[in-house]
Amino acid sequence: MTAVRDPARLGPGDLLAALGELPTGRVAEAYAALGWPVVPLHTPRPGGCSCRAGLACPDPGKHPRLRGWHGLASVDPAAVRGWWRRWPAANVGLATGARFDVLDVDGPGGEAELRALVEAGAVPRGGPLARTGGGGWHLLFQPTGLGNRGGFRPGLDWRGRGGLVVAPPSQHPSGRRYRWVRPPGAEVPAAPAGLRALLAPPGRPAPAPPPTAPGRGYGTAALRGEAARVAAAGPGGRQHALNVAALKLGRLVAAGQLEEARVWAELAAAARSVGLGEGEIAKTIRRGLADARRHATARVGGGRG
Ligand SMILES: [Zn+2]
Repeated sequence: MTAVRDPARLGPGDLLAALGELPTGRVAEAYAALGWPVVPLHTPRPGGCSCRAGLACPDPGKHPRLRGWHGLASVDPAAVRGWWRRWPAANVGLATGARFDVLDVDGPGGEAELRALVEAGAVPRGGPLARTGGGGWHLLFQPTGLGNRGGFRPGLDWRGRGGLVVAPPSQHPSGRRYRWVRPPGAEVPAAPAGLRALLAPPGRPAPAPPPTAPGRGYGTAALRGEAARVAAAGPGGRQHALNVAALKLGRLVAAGQLEEARVWAELAAAARSVGLGEGEIAKTIRRGLADARRHATARVGGGRG
């Protein structure tokens, strides 16, 4: 058997096959490389949690270590590496709503509901599936644009925009680890109409489509404007335009007005359209976002508790 190499050098197939053998930080980097926004979480400790609440924590090992994590969830493997250098035992969280939503199945009641939904054709078989450390299940779906829907059926929660799931190989307070039953390489299915109808019953306002989150109009407009500026830049100015855009948008990301994964995807697409190379694009966006993040962290560190 060969030892697991640096995830950055593994092809997607090798990477996914190796997920079960890698330490949490390496897996977190692999998720980021897939474009899945990663968030470092607290860690269960005997009888409690690594957070300040310790033994009194109501949700040990399941909540983010970053304040303002909505804007900080990252698909940049370098940022993710930095977090796990700082917190090597951190559990790994994945932000939902951007790349996938999650059906969270809990307890025998949830399993019975799930079975009924599968039989009714409202939940397809075969998509990525994780076993949670608490004995539940996480099923991945294409983003619906919906937010979280806790308990939309007995034992069933939906994690959508603004949501978060604990991901393999995180540790559960029980001592068990989350693990993939069908790994992320499996095709992520769309949520069938039957499932969507349960999540957004008729008569309720239609959800915003995935690119637009409620209350984030300003961030979205800024992203659109900056992407357009990059796409319109000539060969002499495109690098500079991308640089400026990444810095400006990075501030909005740090302020929680934009999701980093979206900024990354849309700026990269604009830069590609004017002929910038992948290496240059990644380096420039990463630097801009990292600068903004550093400023935000410094502010949080020096601010009020
Ligand atoms: Zn805690």
